Amino acid sequence: MDHFDLRSGRLHAEDVALEAIAEAVGTPVYVYSQATIERHARVFREAVSGAGRGEPWISFAVKANPNRAVLSVLAGQGFGADVVSAGELIRAIAAGIPADKIIFSGVGKTADEMRLALAHGIGQFNLESEPEAEMLSAVASELEVEARVAYRVNPDVDAGTHAKISTGKSENKFGIPIDTALAAYARAGAMPGLKLQGVAVHIGSQLTALEPLEAAFTKIGALVRELRAAGHDITIADLGGGLGVPYDPALPVPPSPADYGAMVRRVTAGWDVRVAFEPGRLIVANAGVLLSRVIRVKDGVTHPWVIADAAMNDLLRPSLYDAWHEIRAVTPSGHRFTANVVGPVCETGDTFAIAREMDAVAANDLIAFMTAGAYGATMASTYNSRALTPEVLVSGDRWAVVRARQPLEALIAADSMPDWLGG
Ligand SMILES: *Cc1c(COP(=O)(O)O)cnc(C)c1O
Repeated sequence: MDHFDLRSGRLHAEDVALEAIAEAVGTPVYVYSQATIERHARVFREAVSGAGRGEPWISFAVKANPNRAVLSVLAGQGFGADVVSAGELIRAIAAGIPADKIIFSGVGKTADEMRLALAHGIGQFNLESEPEAEMLSAVASELEVEARVAYRVNPDVDAGTHAKISTGKSENKFGIPIDTALAAYARAGAMPGLKLQGVAVHIGSQLTALEPLEAAFTKIGALVRELRAAGHDITIADLGGGLGVPYDPALPVPPSPADYGAMVRRVTAGWDVRVAFEPGRLIVANAGVLLSRVIRVKDGVTHPWVIADAAMNDLLRPSLYDAWHEIRAVTPSGHRFTANVVGPVCETGDTFAIAREMDAVAANDLIAFMTAGAYGATMASTYNSRALTPEVLVSGDRWAVVRARQPLEALIAADSMPDWLGG
């Protein structure tokens, strides 16, 4: 459910007409609904409550939408943060997320990033290899602190999602193989500066079935028991993120948070651990749209080409993952047509939709790419020397720019000239 609806024939974000935002900020621009973010946070929290020991630890996967205003809305919902870089860590802290609710994931944490995270006293490092455990042990020992850690385990489960967002097969780069976990914990348990408190798993993103998650969690439950038997004090099971959201209304809806929560409660019953979650897309995807203006419509051999002022640099998912985003007219005329929707970037991959049956639009009309709040603005680049996309947050009848449009002068001034070229 989201808060983007037609009112008097005009698409609104909560009580604000998207036309008004386009008028004031220009296009393309991402628009987020605070009420939708809060609703998703609440629905998820309620869905998983009662799983594990005490209250679940819910850490928003910052990479899905790192805007500080968005993070601060989630801080207000009691969420922690799952970060994968120093930049994300700094953003989460700046947004008011308490350090002890922060989990640091990722295969390539550097010693500097570890130092920063330890200085803040984050809640958990999810280690993805033994050399990483050795590095963290050395850094923590040098700082004379203890790092709270879990190993991210690769359960060798096929998530049944797009190959580029599948992370839990043995051939993926993530985690340590589950059949080597017992030995890896034994070695890490002997390393100074590490406190082994948990086990973590995350098998992929945009999952549309619960079975692969259940298969992975079941393996984690067995591992928790084996680790306990081996004398490790495991108190946290981090079950990752990955639950999918509806993009295409013609496809079956993914499992609901309530169904997911019920499955987690059933599978984790008896584990006697605190359960952690790292949802990203589920919380923010439907809370954002990319608002764009049609530059022109050009004839095509099969269908007309709708050329939007948004491009693959603003919303990469269609070209990166073959992702499908619903495209709506902001003031639909009631007519429909079949068109190809593309951006101005000089790449054939700069294609949002081919042979799409959609609201008929013409030059200067506003369109909205729906379900763009996750992995949208955060993946934007300046390819083709296009400025980074601005972002707006709406709450009721209020709205504010939460990232300003980057002036082209600033984009170009970021380059510097070597002295031999007259710099
Ligand atoms: C990306 C990621 C997530 C979030 O995935 P979603 O599909 O957005 O829920 C959670 N945990 C880890 C380790 C990730 O890399």
